[in-house]
Amino acid sequence: MMPFASRMAWAQSPFGDVVAREPFGSLEKVADGVWALISTPLSGDRTTLSNGGIIAGRDGVLAIEGFNMPQGAEWLAGQARQLTGKWPTRVVLTHYHADHANGVAGYQSGGHPATRATERTRDLVTTKNLPADAARSAVLSGVELLSTTSPTTIDLGGRAVKVIPRGGHTDSDVTLELDDPNVVFCGDLVWNGMFPNYVDAQPSRLSAAVRAVRRSSRDTIYVPGHGAVARVADFDRYVSMIDEVEQAARRSYASGTSAADAGAAFTLPASLGEWVLFSKAFYPRAFDAWYRELKGA
Ligand SMILES: [Zn+2]
Repeated sequence: MMPFASRMAWAQSPFGDVVAREPFGSLEKVADGVWALISTPLSGDRTTLSNGGIIAGRDGVLAIEGFNMPQGAEWLAGQARQLTGKWPTRVVLTHYHADHANGVAGYQSGGHPATRATERTRDLVTTKNLPADAARSAVLSGVELLSTTSPTTIDLGGRAVKVIPRGGHTDSDVTLELDDPNVVFCGDLVWNGMFPNYVDAQPSRLSAAVRAVRRSSRDTIYVPGHGAVARVADFDRYVSMIDEVEQAARRSYASGTSAADAGAAFTLPASLGEWVLFSKAFYPRAFDAWYRELKGA
């Protein structure tokens, strides 16, 4: 694991004005009416582990992610009310992973936001995030489904949020995108300064999706699923990093080395900068994902 200083680095160099700070993360203003919750998942406080955010329009407020625990969602909703005068009216889950979805019932304590996810994401939360929880199940049963074939536009009043179906980190991921200001909430398709979890990855689909998320505009603000708010240089460093993993996995697969051995021996070149590893298992897991794909399994 990383030394404490580097574990906390991204909490100490926020992108925007920090409007609230907790042991589990900081809420940063990234544009007018747009805030990112940047979690500090190695702090030991598991209220939130993933990033998320708030997008406010004239008529509604959208909260992004359900977080690891209901207390995380409830906290974000309380912040939304303080900042905008409104409890979230909508919630979108980017994918099914527990750290993004399991606390979604926390939004029910102060309102009843319309909650949206793809059908696949809803089904995966229900079948894989066990044990089930009655409050979470109740929210999931009322989820409004997002299209998996075309973008869905959520109109918050003077502010249109495009929810774009993608995949590769899991079987179903979505990004939430604004054109003005130029902000993309990437879900776990993008991680910044933290090595991604390939547990459910379809690596070449991930690689293609990441390239599709990148905008030509250099002033784009990317809110990753984990790690600090990213700009284009951070984004491109991430692309280089996942490409490095791909090349290493293809080489070791061709040479007949097991994914476990290749992953255990793997290191990233110093030229790619520092990448925090959430656990030692993350490299072998990435190689496993590539081997699954290369075997055609
Ligand atoms: Zn994830």
